[in-house]
Parts: sequence; structure tokens; C-alpha cells
Amino acid sequence: MLADRMLGKLARFLRMAGQDVEYVREGDPLEIARRAALENRVLLTRDRKLATRKDHGEVLFIESRYPYYQTRQVVRELKLEVNADFRRCFEDNGTVQEISSEDAKTFVPPYVLESAHTFYRCERCANVYWNGSHVTAMREMVASIGHDAASAPTPNERED
Ligand SMILES: [Zn+2]
Repeated sequence: MLADRMLGKLARFLRMAGQDVEYVREGDPLEIARRAALENRVLLTRDRKLATRKDHGEVLFIESRYPYYQTRQVVRELKLEVNADFRRCFEDNGTVQEISSEDAKTFVPPYVLESAHTFYRCERCANVYWNGSHVTAMREMVASIGHDAASAPTPNERED
């Protein structure tokens, strides 16, 4: 998937749910649509005019302005398999690799080394992630998105 401007939060949420989502903050909408088509990605957009054009690849018009509901819509309509394995960097969609605590030493504060056992590093931005309470909270959110997406859309979700 490729999310266009105003959908940065949605891109983050979808990455948390294990999805490969690029985000383009600015630029010519048609150029962005072409890139999505070229890379074989579904374009996620709030631009209704762009979404109705037929001269580029697959597009999903995002209905809600709320990231949580946007995420549910995408998961439901594209029938995505939600998982919280965290294989994508939330910030930039880079692939994350597990690294040893020895390697993590230079990146994380000492108290983290004492409590966390698994560390991951993004190949793009070199951000280091680890399992901690915030990850548990995110896993719960991701699980609830997967669960909720199976139910019918709420009125909130359709609000423009
Ligand atoms: Zn990254």
C-alpha cells in the first residue's frame, strides 16, 4: 500500500499491524498515484477525485478522518491479515531485523537492557525497538483493530 498526504497516522497504524505501507507526504497527486501503480501498491487516499480516476492502479478511498477507523476500513476492505509481529518500522516502513542485546547496547539506555530481551533495528533509519510495555499496548490495539474490522462499520467510520 501507499498512503498519500494526511494519512501518516494511518500508515503508522497499518505498519503496527504488520503491513507494508509507504507514505508520501507531499507532491503531485497523479505522480503519487503513478508511483503506487508502478510499485504494485494499493493507493490509500482521502482525495475523492483522485480515487475515481481510472487511469492508474488500484485505489481505496478512505472514508473517515480518524486514523483508528481508517485502519479498520483498510483492514476490512482489503481483507488484510493483521499481525503484531512488528516487522516494519513505524516511522518509515523499513524492514526491522532482530539484533543481539550486545549490539543494542550502544542504542538503548541501561535500564532497558536490564528489562528487555529482544531488540530490533530498522534497516532504513537505524531506530532500535524493543519489547516493553508500549509494545504490549500496541499489540492490544492491533488485535482490537483485527477483531473490530470483522464487524460492520459504525456511523463514525463513514463520517467525512
Ligand atoms: Zn525506520
